[in-house]
Order: sequence, then structure tokens, then C-alpha cells
Amino acid sequence: MIIDTHAHLYLEQFDQDLDQVMARAQENGVQKILLPNIDSKTIQSMYALEQKYPDMVMAMMGLHPCHVQEDYQEELIIIKKELDRRSFIAVGEIGIDLYWDKQYVVQQKEAFITQCRWAAALDIPVVIHARESLEILLDILEHIGLEHLQGVFHCFGGDRVALDRVRELGFYIGLGGVITYKSSNMGKVLRSSDIDRIILETDAPYLAPVPFRGKRNESSYLPFIVQKLADILDLPAGEIEKRTTNNAKRLFLREEL
Ligand SMILES: [Zn+2]
Repeated sequence: MIIDTHAHLYLEQFDQDLDQVMARAQENGVQKILLPNIDSKTIQSMYALEQKYPDMVMAMMGLHPCHVQEDYQEELIIIKKELDRRSFIAVGEIGIDLYWDKQYVVQQKEAFITQCRWAAALDIPVVIHARESLEILLDILEHIGLEHLQGVFHCFGGDRVALDRVRELGFYIGLGGVITYKSSNMGKVLRSSDIDRIILETDAPYLAPVPFRGKRNESSYLPFIVQKLADILDLPAGEIEKRTTNNAKRLFLREEL
């Protein structure tokens, strides 16, 4: 069994063939798929997917940093309302993205800190999007004073120093298709012992692994990421599956394993 800890399967890219996408995921051993929210406009389609596949998908709630804009306070009110109304597997995805737009960096920071506090109060983990902002986010988490807050740096692409800081915080890293790209530095950064901190993800429909790079990504491609990770860490694929699944269960389902 594998868990895809990060997939946006509720987006319109899957409107035409969602049932096949879900069937292929199951055929390839993916039994749970976690859905990170983006903003107020994606909530309803995410809930619809959750209703259709209640045993397979689990929803998160949060405001994505690329969608922290002028109206971010109204957006946060909507997010908070949902968090108060029902339960979620995590607060996500939240973070800071300085790649696309640096205009709202102050607001992105504020929204991130606010949502971390909400997660801590609810005792659920955070799913973090860090793009050209890993240092800033690590600084925030090291000083925010939320000792029991747990979470994952999704699509982690940092160096060894950053990974050691993630480990020190007790956080996890999410790895996906990017580790199969030639440009990835994960082969140099990771040690076999890091297997205790790694969870798997696709970030579908984005960042498809080789040999599907550039195409629409989907959860059934996770075995390609498992295999690449097995090569990097020099561990059997079955071991990668088992360990990363246990990590995801520990983080999101609070199972003692
Ligand atoms: Zn995402």
C-alpha cells in the first residue's frame, strides 16, 4: 500500500476521466490520496471528490501562498470557517512562494503563521509549500513557539543543511516526480537514514515523473518515484513503500507504528 500525500485530483484536468484515474491509482497500490486545498474556489470540487471516494481520499484545508493576494483576509475567514465546521487531515497547503510573485511576501508570511497557529490549536499537521523560501519558513518554524506542531515540506528541494533543520524540527519531507529529473540534487542530499522522514507524493496534475515528464501527472505514477528513491537510498522498493507509508500514517493518521 502507498499513500499519495499530495494530489490535486479535484482540478479540472481530471474532469474527463476521474474514474479511470482513481482505478489506475488503486491498481498500482495507491490506497489513500490526500488532497491539499488551494483557495476558496477549490473547496467545493474538493468536497465533491471526497464524497465520491470517501474511503480513498482525505481533504485538507488551507490557503495556498500563490493565492495570498489583496483579498487574503477574506480568503482566510472562509478557510477558518471550514476548519471550525468539520475535521480535516491537515492544514494545507500553506507556505511562501517567492518564485512567481514577491509582491505579497508580507501577507504570505502572515497567512502562513496564522494558519500554523490554527493547525496547532486543532492538533493537526501542516503541509508546506516552499518555493525560494525554505530559509524563511524554517526560521519562522524555529521561532514560532509551537512545539507540538508537525508537518511536511512538500516537494522538498533543499540542501543538507536545510534537511537537517527539517529533521531537527521533527518535520517530514515530501518527495515526488522532481527526484526523477536530472536537475534534482536529492541524490547528493539524501542519506539512507533519511527514510524515517520521507513521505511520497505526486502533486498531480503537476510535476509528472520521468518517463511522463511534461504530461499530466496522476497518483498511479507513484511507483516510478518509489523506484527512483530505492535507487538513491540503495534500499529495496518494498522497503521504501513500507517505510514511507508508515511515516505518512504516523504524521497524518497519528498511528503509532
Ligand atoms: Zn500542491
